[in-house]
Amino acid sequence: MDNLFRTELKGLTPGEIQKYFESLGERKFRGDQVFNWIYNHLVFDFDQMRNLPKPLREKLKLNSIISSLQLIDKQYSPKTGTTKYLFRTSDNQNIESVIIPEKGRNTLCISTQVGCPLDCKFCATGVMGYKRNLTTGEIVDQYLLSAKENGKGYITNIVYMGMGEPLLNYERTISSLQIFTNEITKGVSRNRITISTAGIPHKIIELAESGIRAKLALSLHSCFEDIRSKIMPINQRYSLRENIAAVRIYSKKTKTRITFEYTMLKNINDRDEDVNALIKLCSSLPSKINVIPFNSIKHMNPSGISAELESTPPERIALFVEKLRENHISVFIRETQGDDIAAACGQLAVKYLSLRI
Ligand code: SF4
Repeated sequence: MDNLFRTELKGLTPGEIQKYFESLGERKFRGDQVFNWIYNHLVFDFDQMRNLPKPLREKLKLNSIISSLQLIDKQYSPKTGTTKYLFRTSDNQNIESVIIPEKGRNTLCISTQVGCPLDCKFCATGVMGYKRNLTTGEIVDQYLLSAKENGKGYITNIVYMGMGEPLLNYERTISSLQIFTNEITKGVSRNRITISTAGIPHKIIELAESGIRAKLALSLHSCFEDIRSKIMPINQRYSLRENIAAVRIYSKKTKTRITFEYTMLKNINDRDEDVNALIKLCSSLPSKINVIPFNSIKHMNPSGISAELESTPPERIALFVEKLRENHISVFIRETQGDDIAAACGQLAVKYLSLRI
């Protein structure tokens, strides 16, 4: 039978897979068994699912499919240990995932969209423009295939910070979280999953009320509305003020600390008034700051303000961080990850886009 008429099982939540099995005239626990094979044993072939009776395996082969993204490139940085994966979807789109080893953790950074519509000026994915949302199956498959490559248990943390804005693909992001955090999946614990957003306030509040207990990171990058609007055009639609109000609600409701992502841009957000505003903001709610050295995107020939952006020099970053710490703000400096492998968000996919392979 043509794949178009088969039901894709990868990406169904536990509840959905149970319902699907009932629709086939099977008992719910058979759905749990298949779910267990996919997410705990990383087995995607019905013939290898040994606790399913043969007639059921034949029925599944006829009616269902467990498809996978295609791994088309993998780049390892000996300098940082970062591994970057480039996957291709069935409609020939390229998406990226990155595994970042740091302090005993292996964090998988996953994508939720092909490209991104938000056009943040410091981000390589913006160059690609926006193609489409990923399906739930394509989101979870980045975890499954990376886990298969590296061995079950290797990935300890997941961050939704790859290509795309997860809250603009809200339903599928939520479904993928339901898969990662349910009691059958013995994968990554829920307090090790972070959703990173450029700031869609009503969706942040919806997420807070959803009952999903993931951590939240806000791409802040400036505490001033005018500057943030220049480097993140989405700020013209959803102001920083609205976003801070939303993350306060999120923090209170979920009893979690908010992470503020802060990419250091020379003479744009690294001035004394920037650090003072950051201290004031972070002192007012449970939070921490991820300071990120800027990965230049100049080699991609950007135009407008993107072409002018430069990284803050390391000594200035050190002073900035010192002042934050003197004021008892929790700060984490992200190492520059894999300059040698185009590790900035979207760079590998853009490279392939230009080569058109
Ligand atoms: S930083 Fe994130 S939200 Fe902004 S353009 Fe890049 S992928 Fe999109």
